[in-house]
Amino acid sequence: MSKRDYYDILGVSKDASQEDIRKAYRALAKKYHPDVSKEENAEAKFKEVQEAYDVLGNEEKRKNYDRFGAAGANANFGSGFEGFSGFGGFGGFSDIFDSFFGGGQRRVDPNAPRRGRDIERPITVTFEEAVLGTKKDLQLEVEVDCDICNGSGAESMKDIEKCKTCNGHGYVTVEQRTILGSMRSQETCHTCGGSGKTIKNKCSSCRGTGRKRVVKNVTVNVPAGIDNNMNLRMTGYGEGGSNGGENGDLYLRFRVKPHKVFERKKDDILLTVPISFAQAALGDKIEIPTIYGNVDLNIPAGTQPGTVMKLRGKGVQQVNGSRKGDQLVTLKVEVPKNLTEEQKKAIKEFSNLEGKQTSWDKFKNLFKM
Ligand SMILES: [Zn+2]
Ligand SMILES: [Zn+2]
Repeated sequence: MSKRDYYDILGVSKDASQEDIRKAYRALAKKYHPDVSKEENAEAKFKEVQEAYDVLGNEEKRKNYDRFGAAGANANFGSGFEGFSGFGGFGGFSDIFDSFFGGGQRRVDPNAPRRGRDIERPITVTFEEAVLGTKKDLQLEVEVDCDICNGSGAESMKDIEKCKTCNGHGYVTVEQRTILGSMRSQETCHTCGGSGKTIKNKCSSCRGTGRKRVVKNVTVNVPAGIDNNMNLRMTGYGEGGSNGGENGDLYLRFRVKPHKVFERKKDDILLTVPISFAQAALGDKIEIPTIYGNVDLNIPAGTQPGTVMKLRGKGVQQVNGSRKGDQLVTLKVEVPKNLTEEQKKAIKEFSNLEGKQTSWDKFKNLFKM
């Protein structure tokens, strides 16, 4: 398809100034604009005009066009000549289109039901509360519709009047003069902010805002197994909706206080217990604390330092799952310090009784050449 010369399309000479080109383009764009033009083939001509202006209106592309023709015009702007796909990329033009089609200024109906905002609050629980679950009473300050005026902001129903500026529509039609002629577009009414209503006497309780901050008492059922940084959503406990819209949600973010002796690792609870050398050597039955109360733990004779014993099912119940963790008890064998003379004597006797082949002797023998 042979292309018409861009200069011919715009009806300007080869040495026309950028200002002349712009003027010619505006006149033609107005003449052929598909939404206003009565000309035949207006749309095709409009595109042609756009295409020509896109090249000649740009110094760089115009230079390339003068040297190489249409194929050269876009040489620096991608892979060859791809043609011009309609209306995109025209800075000034898309703006005009927006006001034409009502784009850009989208009206939000202020009288439509609006959902309240979600809110997030931190909540701190103890280690035990997190593992076992609990009930917590919270006081939350939230914004809700004013209970006196039901969110209208008016002293009484008869104080709500139809806005005189927009006649209750909430928007006004404005005429704009553009290069394409005068266009009508709609704007939100500044008098009533788009509600279509004005208020003669404001509600004294909310000073006409229709909203209030109130303190709500909330009882939170903290599920067993909650952990640091977990979120709990409480539907409908956020900010109040307006115009009959539903409330937002409350998101509680948990912080669990560390425990003095217990530590948590996922679903397991860790505990380190000191035992004496004698308990480790001879075995013993000791009482161990768990989050569920004390339990007996049998230490077998000959228990080595660092031995981990598992108390099955004494860990954390998963919040979203059926698994229950264990309590893992690490036995820390303590070597006695500050011995009395009598104790020292007893240990020496023990050492003698241990026989010639102590563990140390066996270990030492490994290094003998
Ligand atoms: Zn009020
Ligand atoms: Zn108005």
